[in-house]
Parts: sequence; structure tokens; C-alpha cells
Amino acid sequence: MLKATPESIQGIGMTSQRTRDRLIQRLQHKGIKNESVLEVIRTTPRHLFIDEAMAHRAYEDTSLPINHGVTISQPYIVARMTELILSHGIPDKVLEVGTGSGYQAAILSRLIKQVYSVERIAALSNQARMRFSQLGYNNIHLRHTDGSWGWQEFAEYPAIIVTAAPSEVPDALLQQLADGGILVIPVGNQTDSQSLLVVERQGDEFVRETIENVFFVPMLNGADR
Ligand code: SAH
Repeated sequence: MLKATPESIQGIGMTSQRTRDRLIQRLQHKGIKNESVLEVIRTTPRHLFIDEAMAHRAYEDTSLPINHGVTISQPYIVARMTELILSHGIPDKVLEVGTGSGYQAAILSRLIKQVYSVERIAALSNQARMRFSQLGYNNIHLRHTDGSWGWQEFAEYPAIIVTAAPSEVPDALLQQLADGGILVIPVGNQTDSQSLLVVERQGDEFVRETIENVFFVPMLNGADR
């Protein structure tokens, strides 16, 4: 893992600002409109969230393998899901299920006051914690746990984002959603494509909207160790 220093954050060559600006143009072509989301993606060093050997590919619009059989999400998907999270106004906090590299949480933390993120693999959670402290992102709160149960302590949430795909929307997440709040979640199995859903809570009703087809790693039960 590349250490975050003023030089490494700025990047050179394939991690330079010019390369990052090209990614922003690509995202705009694909329909991302929210200027603050684009600006945060432009200025967040994605190359520091992946292995150093892969850093030259950090600003391609693709998902990339991190360790433990999981992936850092594609920038377009990060942008799209972040746009959806902000589409009902800026929530004061957000729960993320699936910290992974920490990149999605980092993006959210520049736009939303408090970010709570849970991850079932301890090593990933610890590595993300180190990244956030090096980068000075101090409004991200991490927990190593099975996120299909949400994070009850800080519920209810006006926004919840899930970055691993369960076969059904977990009930606990619906319960931890505030009235008027939204849940952005990929649902489906690994062989067919999954659907990205937005679920809005209206009292005891949960109104679902399908956004587009996506492909995420599966949401698994239980946490390691
Ligand atoms: N948001 C991440 C995406 C990582 S991939 C990023 O920006 O890099 C999805 C992550 O969800 C993986 O790290 C995987 O370990 C985690 N995950 C899968 N099932 C989970 C569960 N039940 N609870 C918490 N995390 C889970």
C-alpha cells in the first residue's frame, strides 16, 4: 500500500490530475451530473485505495481486485450511487455496508457529515482505518461486523448504501432506515445480473425503484475471526 504523503496524494503520470480529469469527463459522458460528486471524485486519490502495483489503473472506469476476493467498485457506480444517496437532499449521516477499500466511504465523507461503515473482513476494515487516518478523513466510523444486521447503535439513518449484493433486501436495514430515508442497494444473485434498487421509506411503506443492472460481489453472512 502506497503511503499517503503530499506527493503521493497528488500523483504523477497515470495517477496525475490530468489522468483524473479524463475520468471525470468519462463519468459526465455516462450521465453523472452532480457537480459536487464529480468534484469529490476528481480530488480523491483512488490510487491510494488499491495495491501499489495496480495504481496505474486507478483512474480507469473499472472495478479492480483488492485483497480477500473482493473489489473496489467502478468509479461510475460509486458516482451513481453517491448521486442517488444525495438525490433526496444531503443526509446528515449515512450507513455503508461493505467498507472494502474504503473508497466509497471516502467519497461520501467529503459530502456528508458522518459516515458509518461496516465490513465483515477484519483486515480490510483495519487497512481502511489506516488510510483514513493518513488522509485525515476523521468523520468515518468503522466497525468490523456482519452488515446485514446494519449498525443499530447509530440508527436510524436517513441514507443507507450497500456495496455487496444480497439476494433479498435485509430486513434489518429497512428497520434502521429513517422515515423519508433512502436505501441504495444491489439485489440479486451472482449468475444473473443484479438490480440496483432505491428503496424509500414512507412510514411503514417501502417504495422500490429499479435503477439499472449492476454487478457486485455477494453479501456474505457472518464476519471473520
Ligand atoms: N465500498 C467498497 C466495495 C467493496 S466490495 C469499496 O469502495 O471498495 C464489497 C465489500 O462488502 C467487500 O469488502 C466484502 O467483504 C463486504 N461484505 C460482503 N458481505 C458483507 C456483510 N454481510 N457485512 C459487511 N460487509 C460485507
